[in-house]
Amino acid sequence: MHLPDIELHEAATLQEAAAVKRRYAPDARLLAGGTDLLVDLKAGRVTAGHLVSVNRIDALRGVSETDGSLCIGALTTITQLHSSPIVGQRFSPILDATGKMAAPQIRNVATVGGNIACAVPCADLPPILTAIHASVALWSPKGERSVPLEAFFMDARQTVLRDDEVLTGVLVPKPRPGFGAAYARFALRDGNAIAVAAVAAGLTLGRDNTVRNACIVLGAVAPIPKVVEAAQTLLVGEHADEEVFNAAAVAAMEAAEPISDVRGSADFRREVVGVMTRRTLATACRRAKENAA
Ligand SMILES: Cc1cc2nc3c(=O)[nH]c(=O)nc-3n(C[C@H](O)[C@H](O)[C@H](O)COP(=O)(O)OP(=O)(O)OC[C@H]3O[C@@H](n4cnc5c(N)ncnc54)[C@H](O)[C@@H]3O)c2cc1C
Repeated sequence: MHLPDIELHEAATLQEAAAVKRRYAPDARLLAGGTDLLVDLKAGRVTAGHLVSVNRIDALRGVSETDGSLCIGALTTITQLHSSPIVGQRFSPILDATGKMAAPQIRNVATVGGNIACAVPCADLPPILTAIHASVALWSPKGERSVPLEAFFMDARQTVLRDDEVLTGVLVPKPRPGFGAAYARFALRDGNAIAVAAVAAGLTLGRDNTVRNACIVLGAVAPIPKVVEAAQTLLVGEHADEEVFNAAAVAAMEAAEPISDVRGSADFRREVVGVMTRRTLATACRRAKENAA
């Protein structure tokens, strides 16, 4: 596997990135950490004669908090996200994903924006970010827009991103009192192994332990992060206990659209979804109680 001949352009601003990309369209692609794109270029899964690096645009880097909401710049690496005190203290369910992804060497260069924009079905951040109601900020020379992550993915490796758009950041709303979330993934080994199946759950509990709001999102078992609508309907209004979590797990297994490949059969993946759904709901429920008003 060799990289084909490619010209690298280093943009200093978003405007410059957009202009260079437009000049060489459709033969140009944005480059962030390159941990996904360079592998795809070497494997011939994608082609590009020009890469437009956004790595010099410092405004796209960093983690901050505004009015209790979390703002993550697209160029923030997985390591930076994982070690952010803001994330550790107030958005800790994200750590369930960042602590498991790839290996330290990859996490040091892989970016949050790249993990979302690549739209690979087994990517770890999209399910948990969807379960905690994140949205992405998209910039183009024509203006900016915000898209809930739930509406961002269209198919495997396809998103609503337009050719002239750059994903500039992720916004996670302030967690409400009584909200808890969790993410779990199964992989064949601990390091540098992509998820075989993954589940994220977000729950809001009332004082009486009744589920007020629920969101279950599956990863690696459908072309896009799959929101399990039926599980949400089953959970809302019910007392948060093992019985209702088991029912939600069955709904999640039914909603999954797994494939069979070298990492596991479709049946195995479906079983894992059931186990992970029960586990993440139990963890989200515990965290929701800890976060009660
Ligand atoms: C050995 C190995 C192990 C891995 N393990 C995991 C794992 O366990 N879990 C996991 O989720 N991923 C894993 N990955 C995949 C990859 O590391 C991540 O998806 C990473 O977050 C991609 O980010 P990047 O910055 O490297 O993206 P890049 O490779 O630079 O870009 C990926 C795609 O997104 C586009 N893009 C990047 N940034 C933007 C932007 N700001 N706006 C618009 N488009 C953009 C690019 O044009 C490209 O199409 C692994 C990769 C390797 C090589």
